[in-house]
Amino acid sequence: MIAEVIVDISTSEVDKVFDYSLDGSPDIRAGFRVLVPFGRMTVEGYVVGIKEKSEYPGLKPITKKLDDYPVISEEMLALMNYMTARYHLRKVDVLRLFIPAQMRGGRVKELVVKYARIADEYVGRDEAQFIRSSATAQHDLFAYLSECGRANVTELNKDFSAAALRNLVARGIVILEEEESLRTPYSGLDGERNKEVVLTPAQSAVAEKINHGEKGVYLLHGVTGSGKTEVYMRAISDALKAGKTAIMLVPEISLTPQVLRSFRARFGDEVALLHSGLSVGERFDEWRRLIGGRAKVAVGARSAVFAPLKNVGLIIIDEEHDSSYVSESNPRYVTHEVAAFRAKYNYCSLVLGSATPSIESYYKATTGEYKLLELPERVNKRQLPEMEIVNMCKEVYDGNNGMFSRLLLSELKECMDRNEQAIIFINRRGYSSYMMCRSCGYVAKCEQCDVSLVYHKDENVLKCHYCGNRYAVLTECPVCHSPHIRRGFVGTQAIVEQLSELFPDKKILRMDNDTTQNKDSHARILGEFAAKKASILVGTQMIAKGHDFPDVTLVGIVDADMSLHFSDFRASERTYQLITQVAGRAGRDLKPGKVVLQTYTPNHYVYKFAVKNDYRGFYEKESNLREVTKYPPFSKIVRVLVSGENEELCTITLKGIFDEISVLTKENPNCFAYFAAMKSPVKRIQNKYRVQILMRITDRFDNLIEKVYNIVDAHTVPKVSVFVEINPNNLS
Ligand code: ADP
Ligand code: ZN
Ligand code: ZN
Repeated sequence: MIAEVIVDISTSEVDKVFDYSLDGSPDIRAGFRVLVPFGRMTVEGYVVGIKEKSEYPGLKPITKKLDDYPVISEEMLALMNYMTARYHLRKVDVLRLFIPAQMRGGRVKELVVKYARIADEYVGRDEAQFIRSSATAQHDLFAYLSECGRANVTELNKDFSAAALRNLVARGIVILEEEESLRTPYSGLDGERNKEVVLTPAQSAVAEKINHGEKGVYLLHGVTGSGKTEVYMRAISDALKAGKTAIMLVPEISLTPQVLRSFRARFGDEVALLHSGLSVGERFDEWRRLIGGRAKVAVGARSAVFAPLKNVGLIIIDEEHDSSYVSESNPRYVTHEVAAFRAKYNYCSLVLGSATPSIESYYKATTGEYKLLELPERVNKRQLPEMEIVNMCKEVYDGNNGMFSRLLLSELKECMDRNEQAIIFINRRGYSSYMMCRSCGYVAKCEQCDVSLVYHKDENVLKCHYCGNRYAVLTECPVCHSPHIRRGFVGTQAIVEQLSELFPDKKILRMDNDTTQNKDSHARILGEFAAKKASILVGTQMIAKGHDFPDVTLVGIVDADMSLHFSDFRASERTYQLITQVAGRAGRDLKPGKVVLQTYTPNHYVYKFAVKNDYRGFYEKESNLREVTKYPPFSKIVRVLVSGENEELCTITLKGIFDEISVLTKENPNCFAYFAAMKSPVKRIQNKYRVQILMRITDRFDNLIEKVYNIVDAHTVPKVSVFVEINPNNLS
């Protein structure tokens, strides 16, 4: 028999299947990791198929298999084929997603613990018969083992002579045994397994549809605090009762210890947790518990969609609108699509949940591709917080040049007087800065593309990230001629400083990228705030999600516009999502909540709909605009990014690709809304030049993208890398 092997080397030249003879290793099947001779080296590889005959004579045999079990299932091999075709990826890059990184090259191993015990035939006998009286170390060891029965060798070596142990083992008096040990994060919570709550009628109805309704993709649109998590847990436990497994995905940022613990507490050892906070050993062991069938539920961030589970009965993507579900670096993929593939393969349902679904997903719910489920109210009749908009231009006009409006200050004071807690949210999504008039709210935009321009400090110009056009910086407002031009953003630190002056006797916590460099600081800050050790929490996006603080009655949004002016066609959508998420932190318990939103563009439709919590209205407006401007979901944005150290070589490659795609656009005149080549907004990264082609494909996408991939392949040369991105979140 012949094995088809993909070698674990990531270059385009060897991204194909190589044949090896299976003589001498007949038990190897598809999915095994193996060592194979390759040129003059021996390399790791993956068996992706077995066949009878090869067209090549004189095949070399496989050196050996690396594990006792296949690490990649038939399903995952099928997924590999799907992903390589859909995203234009190398097979090996996809396969690497399926196993823990450190497994490659043998950098992580099973944790094996060695135990020592007295051999059966020596148990209970008088040791004087076989241990010399002068060998006191051996006597001590024998006595100890007689008493405790079995002992960990590492521990034993601390207290007893290693030579004595060796001697007894050599003579067969003591036996060594090896036992596998698993490193399980957040274990020991089984004792406090929490009970299932009684679902509300609305929750039950939704869970019932997920569990017993028609199989397919469900979009669960439930307002913040509507009890989506309980619905997920119920649906998962139903899948388990039916003898199946389940995958639950959560954005990395919301994988807090609180969330992990609640899953461990509900599902005990049946759940495996996969996230970046685990040690390498823990990750590997959780993965092995899944592949071995010992754990049946995988909970984790994006990459947990590749959990090695068989017989999957349910897949859930929580906060489905979150941008982290799109992988933006090689290998690029869209988690929703991968999950949909696995759901279809396993004939099970996929649930996408959110308080603010992405426009693309909601669009699919309106066309019937997804089935819509709704939880329009909070559990136990709790009210959504009341939101009030403050016009910051008016504040400037009235002489208040500070970062807090008069309304926010007075609400904060009242909240502090009542001894309740407040959250101050600074919208800093994207980190790119825009130019804005503080007197009238005007923001510099691209004349062609209708997205905000990005200020590039190094060149002192404004650039459009969609067409590459450059504009001079503003010195005065072209609309109202005010000289109050602002660029950049207010920092969290400045806010904290000002708050400490205003409320000297209140403790204030800050949470942003700077304060969470340390692995545990994220959890520590949230823990302190939850324990009411501080009155105000100031933070960025990180505090927007999933936290339940019952005493928070005020949420202040300082710079709501930031993400609105981010150079991105999804700017309005992202802003709506962020506002709704942060606002959802207020009034989650019995006390009602209030939200104060500060903006320089109070009449923007995003805020009008957000105030009324009218997602549907926002969706209608936004999707109409997208239809007119031909942005997704009414097109797909494709970027062909060419980069390399030699600028000329990049330009030549780009031109070759551009010319061929031009022909495509002429042959399919109604399928392209936009098509152009340009320098990338960031022209150089790490000494590599970057040039690109941008297009928006409105029709026959699957057919056209395949042609684009073929064109790219035909023009790919050494020393130049070409990536094709579909609907990227970031166009810099
Ligand atoms: P969401 O994920 O939709 O924002 P959560 O699942 O966090 O909402 O639920 C909000 C709060 O309501 C949580 O504190 C949760 O424990 C509580 N909760 C959810 N379902 C029920 C229920 N059926 N009965 C009582 N409390 C519930
Ligand atoms: Zn102005
Ligand atoms: Zn433009």
